[in-house]
Amino acid sequence: MTIQEALFGSNIDFLSHTLKNASKKVEQRSVQLTDGTSIVLHALGVLELVPVNKNTTVEPPKLILSAGIHGNETAPIEFCNTLINEVIEGLYPVKTPTLFIFGNPEAMVSGKRFIEHNMDYLFCGTHVKTAYCNSVDGQRAALIEQSVADFSEGTHNINHYDFHMTIRNSVIEKFARYPFIPGRTTNPMQLQFLAFSGVSAFLFQTTHATTFSSHTAVNFGAESFTVELGKVQPFGQNELRRYNALTENLRTRLKGGWPAPRHAEHRVQCFVASHEIINTGNDFVLHIPEDINNFTKLPVGSVVWEDKEQNYRVQGQDEYIVFPNSKVGPGQRAGLMLRLVDMSAPNKTTEQSTLH
Ligand SMILES: [Zn+2]
Repeated sequence: MTIQEALFGSNIDFLSHTLKNASKKVEQRSVQLTDGTSIVLHALGVLELVPVNKNTTVEPPKLILSAGIHGNETAPIEFCNTLINEVIEGLYPVKTPTLFIFGNPEAMVSGKRFIEHNMDYLFCGTHVKTAYCNSVDGQRAALIEQSVADFSEGTHNINHYDFHMTIRNSVIEKFARYPFIPGRTTNPMQLQFLAFSGVSAFLFQTTHATTFSSHTAVNFGAESFTVELGKVQPFGQNELRRYNALTENLRTRLKGGWPAPRHAEHRVQCFVASHEIINTGNDFVLHIPEDINNFTKLPVGSVVWEDKEQNYRVQGQDEYIVFPNSKVGPGQRAGLMLRLVDMSAPNKTTEQSTLH
């Protein structure tokens, strides 16, 4: 029996196994590679690499690579599957304990973001609420939280990259959101790793969220990011060469290394949220075209939204808009306004920061 057959039965790999069994319960099974590395299929779409790290004084951070928390965001599912295939084929030895997660298999099969509820709002225990706990998405969030808890036992040295894609076009193709934890400072190594992988902007969140990356940061002390990788495409239609740098750098991480810069310098832009646009329900109007790109600059003086009593006008310095959506109901977020900041001097604003 081949390793693939032992893990995935008649399916050729992890991705096809996940899609084929999307609505089924899968029993745990594991195999060992010739170098002693174990590959454990814990549950549907949850696969762990357990290397044998003998005589290592410094263990690399444990790695969580998740994709498909939104089922139709397929490119990262495809390149994670490629990495798993490479490991199974024995192309290189794995030195980093790694948990791969394909988030929402039923949504992946349906080509949808989610089935009933946006799963990326259901973490930090939100899935237990009555409104969510019986849904496909809520139950999947519960299973993922349990898998992460098992994987993380005994360590806080965890790096988590939760890969996503955006619905709309973006002025900046690849950007990463860093969850908010009061008082913490950003690890520059993390920013470098992502910058070397083609991420050219960071959005530092300023309020608590119930996303998957926030869950691992808050509850497991992980250095975690929600990494947005460009516009969604169906399976098989992604230009995977756009992720070559990221895939190569993840390969280096699996081998226990840390990637080197690919260019003399990597320029990034750092943003913080300046204003959350909420549909006030009071004759709320969003003055932003429906098809506007993420990170479109709105100059000083632009009126972004208004209702019967108030409006929001860009003041002081130019701002940028992401995730605009006028269709949300009252009380829900209709977009996020950002300002550029210089991370090396947070009180200063700047056009660009440079990571070497
Ligand atoms: Zn997403």
